[in-house]
Amino acid sequence: MNLFITDKVLNKTLKLPMQKYDDSSIYNDVNIAITRSTQNCMGLLDSITEILYYGVEIISFIVILIYFDWKIIILSVFGALPALYVSIKANKHWFIKLNTRIEKLRHIDYLKELLIKNEYIKETKLYNMGNKILKYIDNCFESFISQDKKARKRISIKRTVAQFFDEMITLLIKAWILLLCLSQHQPVGSIVLYLNSQENLKSSLMAFLNELARIQDNVLYLQVLKRVDEVEVICEEAGKQKISSIESIEFRNVSFSYPGQTVMAIKNVSLMFERGKTYSVVGLNGAGKTTLLKLILGLYTPVTGEILLNGLKLDEINMENYYLHIGAIFQDFIKYPFTIEGNVLSDLDNTQDKDIDLALQCAGLKELIKKLPKGIKTKLMREWSGGIELSQGQWQKIAIARCFNRNADLMILDEPFSAIDIESENCIVKNIKQYFQGGINIFITHHFSSISMADEVIVIDNGRVIEQGTHSQLIENKGKYFELYSEQLNTLKNIG
Ligand code: ADP
Repeated sequence: MNLFITDKVLNKTLKLPMQKYDDSSIYNDVNIAITRSTQNCMGLLDSITEILYYGVEIISFIVILIYFDWKIIILSVFGALPALYVSIKANKHWFIKLNTRIEKLRHIDYLKELLIKNEYIKETKLYNMGNKILKYIDNCFESFISQDKKARKRISIKRTVAQFFDEMITLLIKAWILLLCLSQHQPVGSIVLYLNSQENLKSSLMAFLNELARIQDNVLYLQVLKRVDEVEVICEEAGKQKISSIESIEFRNVSFSYPGQTVMAIKNVSLMFERGKTYSVVGLNGAGKTTLLKLILGLYTPVTGEILLNGLKLDEINMENYYLHIGAIFQDFIKYPFTIEGNVLSDLDNTQDKDIDLALQCAGLKELIKKLPKGIKTKLMREWSGGIELSQGQWQKIAIARCFNRNADLMILDEPFSAIDIESENCIVKNIKQYFQGGINIFITHHFSSISMADEVIVIDNGRVIEQGTHSQLIENKGKYFELYSEQLNTLKNIG
């Protein structure tokens, strides 16, 4: 069950549209669905078997008591009802508490990672953030404990009252059995049999009802699973159009705002990207450059306007097939805890067929690999046994190699050189010109050395395209691009 649920939930998350990743409630539900799967699945199975077990016991005691007086059975059930009510209420309370706390618990988990992960520990130590984080975690748990103390006290009082009520009813029933047996001149053996049966009926009934209350906790968990299951996923791709290559991408009056935001991140943008050309997207932080890339990748849909791929609407294209033609490196690229080869190959099953040499060479990794005894089979990340650690720039080169290895029609490079030295950057840019010029290349970079190699520069400001042309045209225009370029040039001169 655990494997089945985890598999189902993770498969679901793979199909979620990008907008859902901006919604924290999805993270909360997915987290409950995965972390509680063992506890709730085992709990459900346990409860079902216990219910069957106590059910059989109850029936056998009922059979004995029904011959004596059926009203005793009704009274016994009646006595146990308040305790059942309290248990159901308590379970519901704890489950709701878990739901309200799940975001904080996720927050705590994230903070714990900052305290133990290799890549975070330097900064955590330097700024003494460890104490701040520990204090925050302590405060969270203290507030949970103080809330729980009150709730536990309340539930305990209610439970004691319910048990007292049940004991009173039991006393009443016992007195009744005794009086009735004496008036009917029943033998002592029968009196003991009825008294014992009633006592056993009561304890089995209590256990039975407790299991029912526990099932309710599992039912609440199933509701979370249902919510996760009902989240809208990317619609079926099967019937959508497949492409054999990417010839052009066109933006027609595209505007876009992120879910729940009123401000447009992209405003009425019209652009054309054509095969065989390299484009540089330039602008200040927050201008909308990465958003433009996300729209090209179909991760979000424009609010108005349309994006055309080879003249066809992007939302009518089969995305899985589209992605086969794209190589990308993002600012927050992923470091996979695999070997170098495993990091570069996107499909681990086809390792024999692929030659990743060119990609590694073009990304400037050959020298490094030569020095490693296991070459491309070297495991990465020191936090896993046998792994070695790379510098941030070397990791970025691995991500570049992954992108090159696609040999794609569309190559998207979002700040690909942020951690790479200028010598390596120049070398990689030269390799792109030599080996990867056939398709559409889109760069986002602040480095004018790489911007100037673009056939066309697109300047974005506050979500709008404000300038477009070759490097020399934009320099002549003396607009925003010229301003940015001059600033970088002046900085270099000042240093010189
Ligand atoms: P940049 O030009 O630096 O790449 P972005 O395209 O990342 O800028 O961001 C453009 C604007 O959109 C910024 O104001 C940013 O705050 C906002 N933004 C980016 N991602 C999201 C998101 N997931 N949800 C809401 N707003 C976002």
